[in-house]
Amino acid sequence: MVFEAAFLSSSLDNVKLKKRILELGAHEVGIGDVSVGIAPELSHMPLAISLAIQHPSPHSQNKGAYPYAHFSMTIDRRLLEIQRIITRGIRRQGWRVLPIPPDSCRHESTFISRIFNLFPHKTAATCAGLGWIGKSGLLISYRFGPRLNWATILTNAPLKASNKPVKKSFCDQCTCCVEACPAKAIKNNNWEYTTSYRTMIDVDKCASELQKNRKRYGQYACGICMLVCPKGH
Ligand code: SF4
Ligand code: SF4
Repeated sequence: MVFEAAFLSSSLDNVKLKKRILELGAHEVGIGDVSVGIAPELSHMPLAISLAIQHPSPHSQNKGAYPYAHFSMTIDRRLLEIQRIITRGIRRQGWRVLPIPPDSCRHESTFISRIFNLFPHKTAATCAGLGWIGKSGLLISYRFGPRLNWATILTNAPLKASNKPVKKSFCDQCTCCVEACPAKAIKNNNWEYTTSYRTMIDVDKCASELQKNRKRYGQYACGICMLVCPKGH
């Protein structure tokens, strides 16, 4: 509540906003200009605040098929709470905001399911210069690799993009996730700004592996490509 009161009473700028978000528990935060290519429904909010919380150290996780599943919901709840505080603060100052939650089913007919398909968190993070899309299709942060959960807030508040957008991959010759993927779903293609997801990942093979894990372990999850990535260790 102390953070919220201070945030609501101060004028908005990049430094204060990022400091506040980090104080609230995020490990990564950046602001990206997403005006180019954004869906017409969202074009009145040309900036994206991208924020993320790091997963616990791999050494403290239970190794197995889903090294992230057991703590992912806790992280997402914290991200939602940070989003709620920041969104309310910006809205109270008269600006438009649309918080896109960390996770949602993309196949429902709800408003937020449609937004998920129109605007992925990866777009916000790459536009904010926080990382690139790895061969695994995961967002790879310079500092933490793929071991983060992400959330996004779209806005028309008078903020500035914090970095240049990242438009190419830094996976280079690495093939760790390609070799480790049990479904052979990762095609060993480096991402560029215009690359489609399907050029990199065989989504049917990945989905079928996740489905197998659901039968074996009761959860629609895998996470091997996240675990083996050497970036951010
Ligand atoms: S989640 Fe599993 S099956 Fe899917 S791409 Fe990653 S390692 Fe392969
Ligand atoms: S494991 Fe290697 S190739 Fe795969 S995303 Fe990470 S850095 Fe890129």
